[in-house]
Amino acid sequence: MGKALIIGCGGVASVAIHKCCQNSDVFEDILIASRTKSKCDALKAKLDGGKTKISTAQVDADNVDELIALINDYKPDLVLNLALPYQDLTIMDACLATKTDYIDTANYEPLDTAKFEYKWQWDYHDRFKAAGITALLGSGFDPGVTGVFSAYAQKHLFDEIHEIDILDANAGDHGYPFATNFNPEINIREVTAKGSYWENGKWIETEPMEIKREYNFPEIGKKDMYLLHHEEIESLAKNIRGVKRIRFFMTFGQSYLTHLKCLENVGMTSIKPIMFEGRPIVPLQFLKAVLPDPSTLGPRTHGKTNIGCIFKGIKDGKTRTHYIYNICDHQDSYREVGSQAISYTTGVPAMIGAMMLMTGTWKGAGVFNIEEFDPDPFMDALNKWGLPWQQEENPELVE
Ligand code: NDP
Repeated sequence: MGKALIIGCGGVASVAIHKCCQNSDVFEDILIASRTKSKCDALKAKLDGGKTKISTAQVDADNVDELIALINDYKPDLVLNLALPYQDLTIMDACLATKTDYIDTANYEPLDTAKFEYKWQWDYHDRFKAAGITALLGSGFDPGVTGVFSAYAQKHLFDEIHEIDILDANAGDHGYPFATNFNPEINIREVTAKGSYWENGKWIETEPMEIKREYNFPEIGKKDMYLLHHEEIESLAKNIRGVKRIRFFMTFGQSYLTHLKCLENVGMTSIKPIMFEGRPIVPLQFLKAVLPDPSTLGPRTHGKTNIGCIFKGIKDGKTRTHYIYNICDHQDSYREVGSQAISYTTGVPAMIGAMMLMTGTWKGAGVFNIEEFDPDPFMDALNKWGLPWQQEENPELVE
């Protein structure tokens, strides 16, 4: 059906590319372009031989002119950005210049400040609209599937949603005392930032990890979880009618937290450059270099993830509570595509979002968050492509 340019060739991209190749009726031709071309070539060598035609290229996605030249040369139907959040705006600029649809999984953040907000990308709306092209923001799991679950709950289950609690539990064990399941720099920036949640039209800020709760997760059991700021809260607050409170919780094991505290206390998680042996280095980037590469965790990670949303609101004049979630098994993901479940739960929705645009199932000129589109075809695709969802009426609620 069409051609996709996929930028980045890390953990998430590897899963999305495996899934595009499984879905070769839609993804007939893909170009994998990233900073390190040898990684693209190695993945191509693994996947070649199927119906999807794969080619590779080197690109610096911080450079708009290079991106424009690559897009003009390959002429894709869409660009799937699976590099890092720092590259979102340059890739959006190149998509505007070439009138090409754009998809990503994480909102833009500047390299020198850990500040997550949609403002920078929402500012492109009028220009994307005038160019007649679509930007689909946040097509991973969270953000991504959590927005689709919310749109589904709004469409089918509630007259009004008042509260959303997004719960992200990872009961996977990789056997290392400390490692992150996706890009360590992005992960540590996220969890060391101040927490926040949305209540009655305002952001309430908390200290990092200040709010702790315990939850008994289906198939995983009891876990401690901590309130974090998370980017989809901002878009859901805008797009879910009448919502009064949205919170995001993520589980962390004691070993992860103890190591993180120690690394923070000695300054290793700082993003401010320091001078070392006559040249500037960023402590967090140095830490990333010594930590296990998330893409190597697949064979050693056992256990499951459970990510989903608990909704509270009104249906037919009565209070209703409802939980929609997905369970993903690390070893099942590894057997299928050679990656652990965190990359899997992000890479599958990235492929599905790209499929929604490629097939014309979702259309619109401008910049959109995922919950602004019809959730039904995406919910069907989750069941078909490896992330089946489950639901529970009257679930345990989070205090
Ligand atoms: P990785 O670090 O594994 O992969 C990032 C890839 O981008 C690497 O291949 C890297 O190249 C490439 N890259 C980085 N900078 C550039 C550049 N300037 N030009 C070209 N390529 C570049 O990260 P992940 O796969 O773990 O994460 C990918 C994205 O997914 C991130 O934005 C992350 O925030 C997001 N994510 C979203 C989630 C969700 O649920 N929504 C959950 C998890 C992640 P090289 O190989 O040379 O390093």
